[in-house]
Amino acid sequence: MPGRGGPAKKVNNTRYYELLGVSKDATVDEIKKAHRKLALKLHPDKGGDPDKFKEINEAYDVLKDPKKRDIYDQYGEDALKEGMGSGGGGGGMSDILEQMFGMGGGGARRQRERKSEDVVHKLQVPLEDLYTGGTKKLSMSRQLPCDTCRGTGSKTGKRYECQTCQGTGVQVHLRPLGPGMMQQIQSRCSNCGGNGYSTPAGDQCTNCKGKCLVSDKKTFEVHIEAGMKHGSRIVLRGEAGCSEPGLAPGDIILVVVQKEHDVFQRAGVDLVMEKHISLTEALTGCTFTFKHLDGRVLRVTIPQGEVIKPGTFKCLHDEGMPFHGRPYQKGNMYVRFNVDFPDTVSDAQAVAIRAALPIPAAAANGTGTMDTDDTEDVHRITNVADIEAELKSRVNIAKGAGESYDSDDDDDMPRGQRVQCAQQ
Ligand SMILES: [Zn+2]
Ligand SMILES: [Zn+2]
Repeated sequence: MPGRGGPAKKVNNTRYYELLGVSKDATVDEIKKAHRKLALKLHPDKGGDPDKFKEINEAYDVLKDPKKRDIYDQYGEDALKEGMGSGGGGGGMSDILEQMFGMGGGGARRQRERKSEDVVHKLQVPLEDLYTGGTKKLSMSRQLPCDTCRGTGSKTGKRYECQTCQGTGVQVHLRPLGPGMMQQIQSRCSNCGGNGYSTPAGDQCTNCKGKCLVSDKKTFEVHIEAGMKHGSRIVLRGEAGCSEPGLAPGDIILVVVQKEHDVFQRAGVDLVMEKHISLTEALTGCTFTFKHLDGRVLRVTIPQGEVIKPGTFKCLHDEGMPFHGRPYQKGNMYVRFNVDFPDTVSDAQAVAIRAALPIPAAAANGTGTMDTDDTEDVHRITNVADIEAELKSRVNIAKGAGESYDSDDDDDMPRGQRVQCAQQ
């Protein structure tokens, strides 16, 4: 074929054609028919030679697939065998394609032999599923090579080089820049969409209308492993379909996005939860239950006699997240205690509490250790709901009042010097 970069060294790329008894430019249909005839004749069940039978199947397997056939035509059997061995199927094949065409066998064809784009998709996963592991159903649309024409786009199985771009996939325009000067602009070929092939109307495959690809929808069962983290990747190799005809299929890459949980926060392999208890419980001990991520109901008891102070933590060992890959090993669960104080107490309660938990005599009459003669009562007392917001709102309250003082200060000591002082 014209316009193709030939092989660098001499290889045998005719044996498969000879085995099937077809010419080098045979169509897929012709190859299929030839193979069928030979397979019937050479089938071991009908007394055929098993080795010979294996050989014609091997030849057919390569020649029926336009992509493998291309490689065979240029580089012979060894290239295909290397490709199959190294990556085990799809991956190895696209690797060797990249290697070969990347080396410059045919610059024009390079674009056609790339792998299709990978599709990255975020997968929202509840914390429960990351704890126990599980499956999630996911529906994806993709483009697959047309079965009817085996991805060639033509009824006869022939692949037609695009006439507009001569198979390069690139169109070149010249644009005058000025007197005697031209700028060369390259763009993706509008006729073939950049893949270099274009089937004439008469030979177009009716199933895909010559586009080589057909739409397909598949529902995947995605396996989520226990202990997976936010940002973990699940790769469905070769399942993204083809972004252009002739390209190896891309991968679906699912990125785990951990959903927020109402009760538990995750910190690596550990979990943190908040627990509100009453002041009475904080002082006299308590028992509470909570539902874990796998549905178990756990009971925690803080014995009477132990006081829980606000903001302190307890560790529940091995009740955290499972380790990814080692699901029987788990992190810890940390419980942070918030103590809910009563808003008011009755006189009777106050008396009872004072009786139960006596306060030092000096504090009891409101004088502490101070001299009673100098004590002044504070009358303006209000509640502060959010001290940070309160202080922020007061930043500029005295603005202007201290300015004269500030500028005096600046005159006395230049800024540069002050910075130096600060560094020492
Ligand atoms: Zn074109
Ligand atoms: Zn088709």
